[in-house]
Amino acid sequence: MTAQPADHRPPALQVRGLQKRYGRDTALDGIDLSVPEGSVVLLVGPNGAGKTTLLKVLMDLLPADEGDVQVLGRIPAREGAHVRAATGFLPESVEFPFARMRVREVLAFHARFRPRWDEAYAGRLADELELRMDVRWKKLSKGQRRRVQLTAALAHRPSLLLLDEPTDGLDPLVRETVLGLLARHLAETGATALYSTHVLHEAQSLADRLLVLKRGRVGVDAPVEELRRSHLRVRVRGPESGTGPDDVAPGFLVRREATLGRDQSWIVRTPEDELKSWARSAGLEVLETERISMADIALAYLTGKETS
Ligand code: ATP
Repeated sequence: MTAQPADHRPPALQVRGLQKRYGRDTALDGIDLSVPEGSVVLLVGPNGAGKTTLLKVLMDLLPADEGDVQVLGRIPAREGAHVRAATGFLPESVEFPFARMRVREVLAFHARFRPRWDEAYAGRLADELELRMDVRWKKLSKGQRRRVQLTAALAHRPSLLLLDEPTDGLDPLVRETVLGLLARHLAETGATALYSTHVLHEAQSLADRLLVLKRGRVGVDAPVEELRRSHLRVRVRGPESGTGPDDVAPGFLVRREATLGRDQSWIVRTPEDELKSWARSAGLEVLETERISMADIALAYLTGKETS
Protein backbone atom coordinates (compact mmCIF):
# COMPACT_ATOMS: atom_id res chain seq x y z
CA MET A 1 0.00 0.00 0.00
CA THR A 2 1.38 3.42 -0.88
CA ALA A 3 1.28 6.29 1.59
CA GLN A 4 -1.39 8.87 0.88
CA PRO A 5 -0.15 12.35 -0.02
CA ALA A 6 -0.12 14.60 3.06
CA ASP A 7 -2.95 16.80 1.69
CA HIS A 8 -5.34 13.86 1.42
CA ARG A 9 -4.82 12.41 4.85
CA PRO A 10 -7.83 12.78 7.13
CA PRO A 11 -7.34 15.39 9.86
CA ALA A 12 -6.28 14.02 13.25
CA LEU A 13 -8.78 16.33 14.94
CA GLN A 14 -11.97 17.62 13.36
CA VAL A 15 -14.42 19.74 15.34
CA ARG A 16 -17.55 21.49 14.05
CA GLY A 17 -19.84 23.79 16.05
CA LEU A 18 -18.69 22.48 19.43
CA GLN A 19 -20.60 23.94 22.37
CA LYS A 20 -20.01 23.14 26.00
CA ARG A 21 -21.84 24.77 28.88
CA TYR A 22 -21.41 24.46 32.63
CA GLY A 23 -24.87 25.33 33.89
CA ARG A 24 -25.55 28.78 32.46
CA ASP A 25 -21.86 29.50 31.67
CA THR A 26 -20.73 28.80 28.13
CA ALA A 27 -17.17 27.43 28.12
CA LEU A 28 -16.97 26.53 24.40
CA ASP A 29 -19.07 28.66 22.09
CA GLY A 30 -19.06 27.12 18.63
CA ILE A 31 -15.55 25.78 18.06
CA ASP A 32 -14.55 24.79 14.52
CA LEU A 33 -11.17 23.13 14.10
CA SER A 34 -9.29 20.96 11.71
CA VAL A 35 -5.85 19.78 12.75
CA PRO A 36 -3.88 17.95 10.04
CA GLU A 37 -2.19 14.70 10.97
CA GLY A 38 1.37 15.30 12.17
CA SER A 39 0.78 18.94 13.14
CA VAL A 40 2.04 20.31 16.43
CA VAL A 41 -0.42 22.95 17.59
CA LEU A 42 0.33 25.54 20.23
CA LEU A 43 -2.95 26.15 22.08
CA VAL A 44 -3.06 29.45 23.94
CA GLY A 45 -5.75 31.54 25.59
CA PRO A 46 -6.34 33.59 28.72
CA ASN A 47 -7.46 31.90 31.95
CA GLY A 48 -10.94 30.50 31.46
CA ALA A 49 -10.78 30.59 27.64
CA GLY A 50 -11.81 26.93 27.42
CA LYS A 51 -8.51 25.16 26.69
CA THR A 52 -8.86 22.45 29.36
CA THR A 53 -12.53 21.99 28.53
CA LEU A 54 -11.67 21.46 24.85
CA LEU A 55 -9.01 18.84 25.68
CA LYS A 56 -11.40 17.02 28.02
CA VAL A 57 -14.16 16.90 25.38
CA LEU A 58 -11.66 15.51 22.85
CA MET A 59 -10.79 12.77 25.36
CA ASP A 60 -14.48 12.13 26.16
CA LEU A 61 -13.85 13.05 29.78
CA LEU A 62 -16.63 15.63 29.40
CA PRO A 63 -19.70 15.36 27.14
CA ALA A 64 -20.26 18.07 24.50
CA ASP A 65 -23.62 19.83 24.44
CA GLU A 66 -23.63 20.36 20.69
CA GLY A 67 -21.44 19.85 17.68
CA ASP A 68 -19.43 17.15 15.94
CA VAL A 69 -16.09 15.93 17.23
CA GLN A 70 -13.75 13.45 15.57
CA VAL A 71 -10.44 12.34 17.05
CA LEU A 72 -8.23 10.10 14.91
CA GLY A 73 -11.27 9.42 12.76
CA ARG A 74 -13.40 8.29 15.71
CA ILE A 75 -16.22 9.91 17.64
CA PRO A 76 -15.09 10.20 21.28
CA ALA A 77 -18.63 10.13 22.69
CA ARG A 78 -19.12 6.68 21.09
CA GLU A 79 -15.60 5.29 21.17
CA GLY A 80 -14.07 7.04 24.17
CA ALA A 81 -12.04 4.03 25.35
CA HIS A 82 -10.45 3.65 21.93
CA VAL A 83 -9.63 7.35 21.68
CA ARG A 84 -8.09 7.39 25.17
CA ALA A 85 -5.98 4.29 24.44
CA ALA A 86 -4.61 5.89 21.26
CA THR A 87 -3.88 9.26 22.88
CA GLY A 88 -1.17 10.45 25.22
CA PHE A 89 -3.06 12.77 27.55
CA LEU A 90 -1.36 14.97 30.07
CA PRO A 91 -4.12 16.43 32.24
CA GLU A 92 -3.97 19.86 33.86
CA SER A 93 -4.39 18.30 37.29
CA VAL A 94 -1.53 16.51 39.04
CA GLU A 95 -3.86 14.34 41.13
CA PHE A 96 -3.96 10.55 40.92
CA PRO A 97 -6.69 8.46 42.60
CA PHE A 98 -4.34 5.88 44.14
CA ALA A 99 -2.04 8.20 46.07
CA ARG A 100 -0.34 5.37 48.01
CA MET A 101 1.00 3.79 44.83
CA ARG A 102 4.72 4.05 44.18
CA VAL A 103 5.89 5.62 40.92
CA ARG A 104 6.69 2.22 39.36
CA GLU A 105 3.15 1.06 40.23
CA VAL A 106 1.62 4.21 38.78
CA LEU A 107 3.44 3.56 35.49
CA ALA A 108 2.39 -0.11 35.56
CA PHE A 109 -1.19 1.03 36.13
CA HIS A 110 -1.06 3.22 33.01
CA ALA A 111 0.63 0.45 31.02
CA ARG A 112 -2.34 -1.86 31.66
CA PHE A 113 -4.60 0.41 29.58
CA ARG A 114 -2.07 0.82 26.77
CA PRO A 115 -1.68 -2.21 24.51
CA ARG A 116 1.33 -0.57 22.81
CA TRP A 117 3.18 0.39 26.02
CA ASP A 118 6.94 0.23 25.34
CA GLU A 119 8.66 -0.82 28.57
CA ALA A 120 12.15 0.01 27.30
CA TYR A 121 11.08 3.46 26.18
CA ALA A 122 9.30 4.05 29.50
CA GLY A 123 12.58 3.17 31.24
CA ARG A 124 14.53 5.59 29.06
CA LEU A 125 12.06 8.42 29.75
CA ALA A 126 12.11 7.62 33.45
CA ASP A 127 15.91 7.90 33.44
CA GLU A 128 15.93 11.14 31.49
CA LEU A 129 13.28 12.66 33.74
CA GLU A 130 15.01 11.26 36.85
CA LEU A 131 11.86 9.60 38.21
CA ARG A 132 12.12 8.21 41.74
CA MET A 133 10.50 4.83 41.12
CA ASP A 134 10.08 3.75 44.77
CA VAL A 135 8.49 6.92 46.10
CA ARG A 136 4.76 7.00 46.75
CA TRP A 137 2.66 9.36 44.60
CA LYS A 138 1.40 11.31 47.62
CA LYS A 139 5.00 12.19 48.57
CA LEU A 140 5.89 13.65 45.17
CA SER A 141 6.09 17.37 44.51
CA LYS A 142 3.98 18.93 41.76
CA GLY A 143 6.91 18.92 39.31
CA GLN A 144 7.81 15.31 40.11
CA ARG A 145 4.19 14.28 39.47
CA ARG A 146 4.24 16.12 36.15
CA ARG A 147 7.31 14.11 35.12
CA VAL A 148 5.59 10.80 35.92
CA GLN A 149 2.50 11.90 34.00
CA LEU A 150 4.63 12.85 31.02
CA THR A 151 6.33 9.45 31.02
CA ALA A 152 2.89 7.79 31.08
CA ALA A 153 1.66 10.00 28.23
CA LEU A 154 4.61 9.25 25.93
CA ALA A 155 5.65 5.66 26.69
CA HIS A 156 3.10 4.02 24.40
CA ARG A 157 4.16 6.25 21.47
CA PRO A 158 0.60 7.43 20.77
CA SER A 159 -0.31 8.99 17.45
CA LEU A 160 -1.94 11.91 19.26
CA LEU A 161 -0.67 13.93 22.23
CA LEU A 162 -2.99 16.23 24.17
CA LEU A 163 -0.79 18.14 26.59
CA ASP A 164 -2.37 20.53 29.09
CA GLU A 165 0.37 22.88 30.34
CA PRO A 166 3.01 20.13 30.29
CA THR A 167 5.76 22.21 31.88
CA ASP A 168 3.62 23.74 34.63
CA GLY A 169 5.42 23.30 37.96
CA LEU A 170 8.77 22.29 36.43
CA ASP A 171 12.01 24.03 37.35
CA PRO A 172 13.86 25.72 34.45
CA LEU A 173 16.37 22.89 34.06
CA VAL A 174 13.73 20.15 33.89
CA ARG A 175 11.64 22.37 31.59
CA GLU A 176 14.54 22.41 29.11
CA THR A 177 14.92 18.62 29.43
CA VAL A 178 11.20 18.14 28.79
CA LEU A 179 11.16 20.43 25.74
CA GLY A 180 14.15 18.61 24.26
CA LEU A 181 12.61 15.25 24.98
CA LEU A 182 9.30 16.28 23.41
CA ALA A 183 11.08 17.59 20.30
CA ARG A 184 12.84 14.25 19.88
CA HIS A 185 9.64 12.29 20.59
CA LEU A 186 7.65 14.26 18.00
CA ALA A 187 10.39 13.91 15.38
CA GLU A 188 10.64 10.14 15.99
CA THR A 189 6.92 9.37 16.13
CA GLY A 190 5.42 12.01 13.79
CA ALA A 191 2.58 12.30 16.30
CA THR A 192 -0.02 15.05 16.13
CA ALA A 193 0.07 17.24 19.24
CA LEU A 194 -2.07 19.88 20.88
CA TYR A 195 0.10 21.72 23.39
CA SER A 196 -1.63 24.10 25.78
CA THR A 197 0.53 26.64 27.58
CA HIS A 198 0.68 30.14 29.02
CA VAL A 199 4.40 30.38 28.27
CA LEU A 200 4.17 31.69 24.74
CA HIS A 201 7.79 31.38 23.66
CA GLU A 202 8.10 27.90 25.16
CA ALA A 203 6.91 25.61 22.41
CA GLN A 204 7.68 27.99 19.54
CA SER A 205 10.33 25.74 18.13
CA LEU A 206 8.04 22.67 18.28
CA ALA A 207 4.80 24.09 16.92
CA ASP A 208 3.80 24.48 13.29
CA ARG A 209 0.28 25.76 14.01
CA LEU A 210 -1.15 28.32 16.39
CA LEU A 211 -4.61 28.05 17.93
CA VAL A 212 -5.82 30.96 20.05
CA LEU A 213 -8.98 30.55 22.12
CA LYS A 214 -10.73 33.57 23.59
CA ARG A 215 -13.92 33.26 25.66
CA GLY A 216 -14.72 29.87 24.19
CA ARG A 217 -14.20 30.89 20.56
CA VAL A 218 -11.41 30.39 18.07
CA GLY A 219 -9.49 33.66 17.65
CA VAL A 220 -6.81 32.28 15.34
CA ASP A 221 -6.22 28.85 13.84
CA ALA A 222 -3.48 28.88 11.22
CA PRO A 223 -0.08 27.49 10.27
CA VAL A 224 2.79 29.38 11.90
CA GLU A 225 4.47 30.01 8.55
CA GLU A 226 1.36 31.68 7.18
CA LEU A 227 1.01 33.82 10.31
CA ARG A 228 4.64 34.86 10.19
CA ARG A 229 4.30 35.84 6.54
CA SER A 230 1.15 37.87 7.05
CA HIS A 231 1.93 39.76 10.29
CA LEU A 232 4.16 42.78 10.81
CA ARG A 233 5.17 45.08 13.60
CA VAL A 234 4.94 48.57 12.20
CA ARG A 235 5.77 52.02 13.55
CA VAL A 236 3.46 54.69 12.17
CA ARG A 237 3.68 58.45 12.65
CA GLY A 238 0.72 60.83 12.59
CA PRO A 239 0.70 64.46 11.39
CA GLU A 240 1.51 67.25 13.84
CA SER A 241 -2.18 68.04 14.13
CA GLY A 242 -5.37 66.40 13.01
CA THR A 243 -6.11 62.67 12.72
CA GLY A 244 -3.32 60.50 14.18
CA PRO A 245 -2.70 56.78 14.75
CA ASP A 246 -4.89 56.91 17.87
CA ASP A 247 -7.93 57.94 15.89
CA VAL A 248 -7.94 55.20 13.26
CA ALA A 249 -8.61 51.47 13.53
CA PRO A 250 -8.08 49.79 10.17
CA GLY A 251 -9.51 46.30 9.80
CA PHE A 252 -6.02 44.75 9.66
CA LEU A 253 -4.94 46.21 13.02
CA VAL A 254 -4.42 43.39 15.55
CA ARG A 255 -2.91 45.28 18.48
CA ARG A 256 -1.67 48.73 19.44
CA GLU A 257 1.56 48.11 21.33
CA ALA A 258 2.92 51.46 22.44
CA THR A 259 2.59 55.19 21.84
CA LEU A 260 5.38 57.72 21.92
CA GLY A 261 4.29 61.22 20.95
CA ARG A 262 2.98 61.05 17.38
CA ASP A 263 4.39 57.54 16.87
CA GLN A 264 2.55 54.33 17.55
CA SER A 265 3.67 50.74 17.27
CA TRP A 266 1.12 48.31 15.83
CA ILE A 267 0.88 44.63 15.06
CA VAL A 268 -0.97 44.31 11.75
CA ARG A 269 -2.15 41.51 9.53
CA THR A 270 -1.72 42.76 6.00
CA PRO A 271 0.85 42.74 3.19
CA GLU A 272 3.38 45.56 3.48
CA ASP A 273 2.45 47.29 0.19
CA GLU A 274 -1.24 47.41 1.16
CA LEU A 275 -0.29 48.80 4.57
CA LYS A 276 1.74 51.54 2.92
CA SER A 277 -0.92 52.56 0.45
CA TRP A 278 -3.53 52.59 3.24
CA ALA A 279 -1.22 54.72 5.42
CA ARG A 280 -0.73 57.26 2.60
CA SER A 281 -4.46 57.66 2.18
CA ALA A 282 -4.92 57.98 5.96
CA GLY A 283 -2.20 60.64 6.25
CA LEU A 284 0.13 58.44 8.32
CA GLU A 285 3.80 57.80 7.68
CA VAL A 286 5.16 54.23 7.94
CA LEU A 287 8.53 54.60 9.72
CA GLU A 288 9.57 50.97 9.87
CA THR A 289 8.24 47.42 9.63
CA GLU A 290 9.58 44.10 10.89
CA ARG A 291 8.58 40.43 10.89
CA ILE A 292 7.69 39.07 14.32
CA SER A 293 7.90 35.79 16.21
CA MET A 294 5.01 33.41 16.78
CA ALA A 295 5.06 34.32 20.50
CA ASP A 296 4.56 38.00 19.60
CA ILE A 297 1.74 37.11 17.23
CA ALA A 298 0.05 34.98 19.91
CA LEU A 299 0.45 37.78 22.47
CA ALA A 300 -1.04 40.29 20.04
CA TYR A 301 -4.18 38.18 19.65
CA LEU A 302 -4.41 37.48 23.38
CA THR A 303 -4.16 41.13 24.38
CA GLY A 304 -5.38 43.10 21.35
CA LYS A 305 -8.64 44.95 21.96
CA GLU A 306 -9.15 45.05 18.19
CA THR A 307 -9.50 41.26 18.10
CA SER A 308 -11.84 40.80 21.05
P1 ATP B 1 -6.83 28.15 32.47
O1 ATP B 1 -5.88 28.81 31.54
O2 ATP B 1 -7.13 29.02 33.66
O3 ATP B 1 -6.47 26.74 32.83
P2 ATP B 1 -8.78 27.25 30.48
O4 ATP B 1 -8.59 28.01 29.20
O5 ATP B 1 -8.22 25.88 30.55
O6 ATP B 1 -8.27 28.13 31.70
P3 ATP B 1 -11.28 26.05 31.26
O7 ATP B 1 -10.73 25.44 32.50
O8 ATP B 1 -11.62 25.16 30.12
O9 ATP B 1 -10.36 27.24 30.74
O10 ATP B 1 -12.59 26.87 31.67
C1 ATP B 1 -13.46 27.48 30.72
C2 ATP B 1 -14.64 28.10 31.45
O11 ATP B 1 -15.44 27.07 32.02
C3 ATP B 1 -14.28 29.03 32.61
O12 ATP B 1 -15.18 30.10 32.63
C4 ATP B 1 -14.42 28.16 33.82
O13 ATP B 1 -14.81 28.94 34.95
C5 ATP B 1 -15.57 27.23 33.42
N1 ATP B 1 -15.45 25.91 34.07
C6 ATP B 1 -14.43 25.04 33.89
N2 ATP B 1 -14.65 23.89 34.60
C7 ATP B 1 -15.82 24.07 35.23
C8 ATP B 1 -16.62 23.25 36.10
N3 ATP B 1 -16.22 22.03 36.45
N4 ATP B 1 -17.79 23.77 36.56
C9 ATP B 1 -18.21 25.01 36.18
N5 ATP B 1 -17.53 25.82 35.35
C10 ATP B 1 -16.35 25.36 34.88
